[in-house]
Amino acid sequence: MNRIEQFVLDTIDESRPALIDLTRELVRIPTENKQTIGGEKECQLLLANRLKEFGFPLDVFTPLDVEGIENHPRFVPGRDYENRPNVVAILKGSGRGKSLIISGHIDVCAKEPLLWNHDPFGADIENDRLYGRGSLDMKGGLAAAVMALKAISAVGVELVGNVYLESVVDEEGSGSGSLSCILRGYKADAVIIPEPTSMTICPASMGEKYMRIAIHTENRKQYIGSGPKDINPVYGIAKVIDALYTFEEERGKIEPENIHPLYRNMANPLAVTIEQLKAGDVGVPGAFGIPVDAWLLASMRVFPGTTEEEFEREFYSFLNSAIEKEPVLKRNPPIIANEARFLHPHQIDPNHPIMKMLSDSFMKVCKQRPKIEGAPFACDGFLFEKYGQMPVVIFGPGGENAHAANEYVRIQDLCDLTKIFALTMMNWCRYR
Ligand SMILES: [Zn+2]
Repeated sequence: MNRIEQFVLDTIDESRPALIDLTRELVRIPTENKQTIGGEKECQLLLANRLKEFGFPLDVFTPLDVEGIENHPRFVPGRDYENRPNVVAILKGSGRGKSLIISGHIDVCAKEPLLWNHDPFGADIENDRLYGRGSLDMKGGLAAAVMALKAISAVGVELVGNVYLESVVDEEGSGSGSLSCILRGYKADAVIIPEPTSMTICPASMGEKYMRIAIHTENRKQYIGSGPKDINPVYGIAKVIDALYTFEEERGKIEPENIHPLYRNMANPLAVTIEQLKAGDVGVPGAFGIPVDAWLLASMRVFPGTTEEEFEREFYSFLNSAIEKEPVLKRNPPIIANEARFLHPHQIDPNHPIMKMLSDSFMKVCKQRPKIEGAPFACDGFLFEKYGQMPVVIFGPGGENAHAANEYVRIQDLCDLTKIFALTMMNWCRYR
């Protein structure tokens, strides 16, 4: 490590309290994604103000400000983007070095109705843990990127290539925040997304398919507690649950050589998760009788390299044979519909230069070799790859309970991440 690099890292050490403060400020402003509305504006304006104070030019725009986005095949219609601006900060390089995008989402998933021991928006600190909704997924990673950018400009390092820092809206709903940045023209030679990876450098992410499976009461009649017992759709949906359980088990029996090489250390990578389950009009008091329908919402993971069509073939062939074998389902088959859009998996060559650059920076900061594996989740990564032709790496802090109660991020990871981002910006974009 040379003197300038060391100077930047020392500066980041000194600004550790500011990094923690910024993360806490972001966590304290709720930005829950309430499908189809959101409330990112206040938090985005705070971030924009900080970035302005640090001296960076900004571009603030909502997804719908980007002309033509509504005609894009990946645009998800029917979402409200009033008061939901993206914020892009630009650190303009002095020449023609390689460019870098660091992109993170500012929206968080809903805190309710989970049981928290900490105020979800209190940003409590206990030892090395900073608690709160979004602390891990992914305001902490965003704050680290901001502080890296700040340290570089504060010590007067002049980058040759451009760095763009994107804080985007509606990742937990549609991905239109990221899509609109791509369509607005933000392009770079590499993209880093600081989603929580426990400091593992991930050249790949999983794909995810959501399906809603419903069973209506046979003959669409509602009986008041009489009639043949198994016309009740609850019994049908129970068989579907059994089938999905078996589907996950069968997929888990994959031969080791067929497991994607970046996912061989992961337990149950091809998870099938029943996320919601409902029967009858639960919101209507006094809706007695056999429920009109029962449905569930399931998410299912796929490895990088698997297309939506390949997954659908596998899924329908399994489910159709399960229906064939089960009289209740055969008589009254489930109605299956896609929920939301397919989240594509993504991958780049694990030896891509940006991987090497991140690994070198990691070793300088953490004094050990990084873990390199696939990210165990789907995210906006594929949008940059598929619609922006940019190589994408997922790399962010550790912690626990993303999308769950008592979410927290490790503070030490945020400090290390800030340093690794700073070194990567400097050496990827080059500097004077
Ligand atoms: Zn996330």
